[in-house]
Amino acid sequence: MNTKNKGFNTKLVHAGAYEDVFGSAVTPIYQTSTFAFQNAQHGADCFAGKSDGFIYTRIGNPTIKAFEDAMAELENGVGGVATSSGMAAVSSVYMALLGAGKHIVCSASVYGPSRGVLERDFSRFGVEMTFIDTSDIQQIKNAIQENTTVLYIETPTNPTMQLTDLVEASKIAHKHGITVVVDNTFSSPYLQKPLNLGCDVVLHSVTKYINGHADIVGGVIIAKEQDMYKKIRASMVYLGGNMDPHQAFLTHRGLKTLSIRMDKAEESAMKVAQYLENHPKVDWILYPGLKSHPQHELAKKQMSGFSSMISFGLKGGLDAGRTLMDNVHLALLAVSLGGVETLIQHPASMTHAGMTKEAREQADISDGLVRFSVGIEDAEDIIEDLDQALAKV
Ligand SMILES: *Cc1c(COP(=O)(O)O)cnc(C)c1O
Repeated sequence: MNTKNKGFNTKLVHAGAYEDVFGSAVTPIYQTSTFAFQNAQHGADCFAGKSDGFIYTRIGNPTIKAFEDAMAELENGVGGVATSSGMAAVSSVYMALLGAGKHIVCSASVYGPSRGVLERDFSRFGVEMTFIDTSDIQQIKNAIQENTTVLYIETPTNPTMQLTDLVEASKIAHKHGITVVVDNTFSSPYLQKPLNLGCDVVLHSVTKYINGHADIVGGVIIAKEQDMYKKIRASMVYLGGNMDPHQAFLTHRGLKTLSIRMDKAEESAMKVAQYLENHPKVDWILYPGLKSHPQHELAKKQMSGFSSMISFGLKGGLDAGRTLMDNVHLALLAVSLGGVETLIQHPASMTHAGMTKEAREQADISDGLVRFSVGIEDAEDIIEDLDQALAKV
């Protein structure tokens, strides 16, 4: 079915479906590593790109293509490249767009490994980099050099919940011929479409909202233009970070309910945020849907919803955070986000416990910071759980 002119929810359910000879209602799992050619000429045509037949699963596969096509349509791009993880998506984009002597400008508080792989690995190959607060447009202007080729943005950021104005950032970057890449994991195309706002490439950890069921790890990249799409696909195929057919099947199944899951989670997130904002033991809270968020107006302008990630600070610091973690029952103590289940994380005692207090503070991670991913359980139950745990803090 051609879904090009249909609404977002129709696209979620039907876009990309691969029509097979049996009329399968759902794209099946083509669990095969390779595909037989009809004859020598067909093989030659497939390799030359004259036939759209499949060759080998690292290069392409019907189950994976169905998911890629759906994501490309949802993000309004020309093509999608599915990857084994969100980090494989990030690394494939870096590999396609960077090289010795080239320079990248990157949000300072991006997902840790998205920055880490630049500092640890790409630096060894002569890539130059500057990390700034991209929510401040002046800092982007100041960071651009003659050899800058990529502006890499995450919005909202994790866990500091800063937003970057994508229209403004793209305008500046394009004046200098710079490619704008956006990690759209926190919003998904349901709430934010970076390609419509002027950006060139969008990527996701589909581990989070896209799949939404905490049962796979995966990634996807979508490009606005054909040349860029081909360049990124070629890098992914050579690096070998492809998604596998079973992963693609599960992710595509999860994708179909994206909007109803995110609506439910956001509705609860707003209630949880309002509850936390009024709690005496909570020092501060950052949720883009609250009027108190410093960029609430920008969130309303460039997003069509506020998603369900909340960061808040406890007055009691490290001990308070640890006590809260040890007393919640419904929320799972776990990293990751965007699934149907509510997750809670305390960086200072968990993911970032190995860092010194000073290093954490430099990264804006205070000892009382708690990150909360609201799931689709009943809001009353989520709040009741927090309430009894906060009473023990
Ligand atoms: C989780 C995450 C990633 C990395 O994705 P993986 O699937 O874990 O490899 C990248 N960016 C953001 C914003 C994330 O939350």
